[in-house]
Amino acid sequence: MDIFEDDRAMDLLDRLRKSKRIVLTGHRGPDGDAVGSTLALWNHFHEQGIESTVVLPDAYPEFLSWMNGQNEIVFHSEEPNRAEELVKEAEVLFIQDYNDSSRVGDLQSALDSTEAYTVMVDHHQNPSDFVDIMFSDDKCSSTCEMVYRLIERWGQAKDISINTASCLYCGIVTDTGSFRFSSVTPRTLRIAASLCETGMDHSAIQTRVYDTNRVGKLKLVGYALSSKLLVYPEFHSAIISLSAEELERFGYQKGDTEGLVNSALSIEGVNFAAFIHESSDKVKLSFRSVGEFSVSDFSSTHFGGGGHHNAAGGASSDSLENVLNKILGLLPSYASDLDYSKK
Ligand code: 5GP
Ligand code: MN
Repeated sequence: MDIFEDDRAMDLLDRLRKSKRIVLTGHRGPDGDAVGSTLALWNHFHEQGIESTVVLPDAYPEFLSWMNGQNEIVFHSEEPNRAEELVKEAEVLFIQDYNDSSRVGDLQSALDSTEAYTVMVDHHQNPSDFVDIMFSDDKCSSTCEMVYRLIERWGQAKDISINTASCLYCGIVTDTGSFRFSSVTPRTLRIAASLCETGMDHSAIQTRVYDTNRVGKLKLVGYALSSKLLVYPEFHSAIISLSAEELERFGYQKGDTEGLVNSALSIEGVNFAAFIHESSDKVKLSFRSVGEFSVSDFSSTHFGGGGHHNAAGGASSDSLENVLNKILGLLPSYASDLDYSKK
């Protein structure tokens, strides 16, 4: 049965209509799906006469800075007291595009102590059961696709505005690599088609997200690929690491390295790719795989991270060098798992 088919979705709508303080949250380091899904609901609710507030742990990249309602977002990194108060005092609180309270960084203690009725809408594997209603579908392409299905269940798909559609389309596009990943189903494409029917400019969204590069960003990507790409054909693996000094040399801004790990994965014969970089006080890890090798398991086993079967992440307080050596040290033990020709 579709997860939105039972009474929970309709009961939620009743509750939302009676609630004054509705808060929509996404994960730390918000991506297109986190920003898109929270702002989509914010726009849709507003148009339905339901007021809400989007609270995010920290800022997101420039290439996502165009969605309607973005100026109303409360960032914990900028206004910690206001953000914590909103979360603690919410009547209904949405957990979008994440499934564990540890994914909101410094906002976690407010989230853990909220009195709110909590609603998860998420598509990551292994959700933590800390909410009142859990809409979790790890087969779904994106949280934005799930938000569309929720709105559809409410009988409001025909009311989706251009602003709401643009936010939803952004999350679907970014989480599917522009409709390329195996998570894309006929239903994903039908939903994308419905969003296009609102009259939104789908091509402009792709241009905003993928074709608005700064020179420094392109040069950083060029440097990473020409000088920092390590390829291990015997382990079907490729790794890129970047230190804070290297990032600064190219005037790094949030989002500049988005997609680098997919370039490493695109190498013929490579089934596992990692991108690691220094980020303030920690090392951020991104893992991607093709086929049956689960980077979600790899990340949770070795780095306490998680995500999806073929796309996962994590963080480490160890040094960049130690993290790189740890991954390199693990590769031989996964060599046969990553050699699909033997299966
Ligand atoms: P990315 O490599 O694009 O940062 O993240 C890939 C996927 O892994 C995303 O779905 C993201 O939500 C998840 N992910 C990224 N970082 C972490 C992390 O530190 N912990 C967990 N559990 N998941 C993460
Ligand atoms: Mn997502």
